[in-house]
Amino acid sequence: MLPGIDLHTHSTASDGTLSPPQLVRAAAEAGLDVVAITDHDTTAGWEPALQALPAGLRLVRGAELSCRWSGVEPSLPLHLLAYLFDPDAPELVAELARVRAARLQRGERIVARLRADGIDVSWPEILAGAGGGTVGRPHIAQALIRAGLVATTSEAFGPDWLGERYRLPKEDIDVFRAVRLVRAAGGVPVFAHPRATRRGRIVPDELIAELAAAGLAGLEADHEDHSPAEREHVRGLAADLGLLVTGSSDFHGTHKTVQLGAFTTDPEAYERIVAESSGVVEVASG
Ligand code: AMP
Ligand code: FE
Ligand code: FE
Ligand code: ZN
Repeated sequence: MLPGIDLHTHSTASDGTLSPPQLVRAAAEAGLDVVAITDHDTTAGWEPALQALPAGLRLVRGAELSCRWSGVEPSLPLHLLAYLFDPDAPELVAELARVRAARLQRGERIVARLRADGIDVSWPEILAGAGGGTVGRPHIAQALIRAGLVATTSEAFGPDWLGERYRLPKEDIDVFRAVRLVRAAGGVPVFAHPRATRRGRIVPDELIAELAAAGLAGLEADHEDHSPAEREHVRGLAADLGLLVTGSSDFHGTHKTVQLGAFTTDPEAYERIVAESSGVVEVASG
């Protein structure tokens, strides 16, 4: 049997519902051999995950960076997974802090808009719900659920709510700068769910080719937000560009229905990620 390698998961350090120690324990219980912790725009979960790492499980420390491509109008948000990078690299640290601050501002503005429309959600309560982790729309979704306005997180992402009507942009990291900074920090950048049309607009293949030339290492193909045809397209593009291909759950605890290990990465792709990293942060073994 192939080893279970899940390279995209979230904890309470961002918008997941399991704490980092709970996340690594759940990964071991799910039978995974390798798990990556990839919270949005933060490395705050790394240390607590490391401290709690169960025997036999390997931990890849990473993050999912909120990026933006300004090659089209309006500009497009996209997510870049970054693995095994130096968490103290000053420019990257500064960008992550800036994006987290931008997330706070955007969250507060979304809440102000909701309140202006008479919807009773409270920013301090949402902040408390995020528990000090990177704030995201899933935390606002919980407030909409508490207020009885929607039943589920995915309903809260519908067009009447956070998916469109109350969707506001945030100031993300320029994607070329992000790729450069991750590589400069010894890490390995992989484009998360690049073809997920069900999430909204997607970038053209030409941009992915430009990113590959700029240092992008891989593409996430197997992801619940990709249809079978989209997964095949991503695989073909990766083959054309010489990029590695990953598959991951993008687990968020109870904020999403997907389970740990629902999609996995081939050992060859995982080994390539490890080999391409500078070694400043190594895969940890429990
Ligand atoms: P944000 O990072 O604040 O823009 O919010 C995006 C996050 O919301 C993603 O990382 C997912 O965790 C979550 N998300 C996006 N779409 C959905 C959906 N349809 N159902 C549940 N969660 C979603
Ligand atoms: Fe998320
Ligand atoms: Fe994502
Ligand atoms: Zn994610």
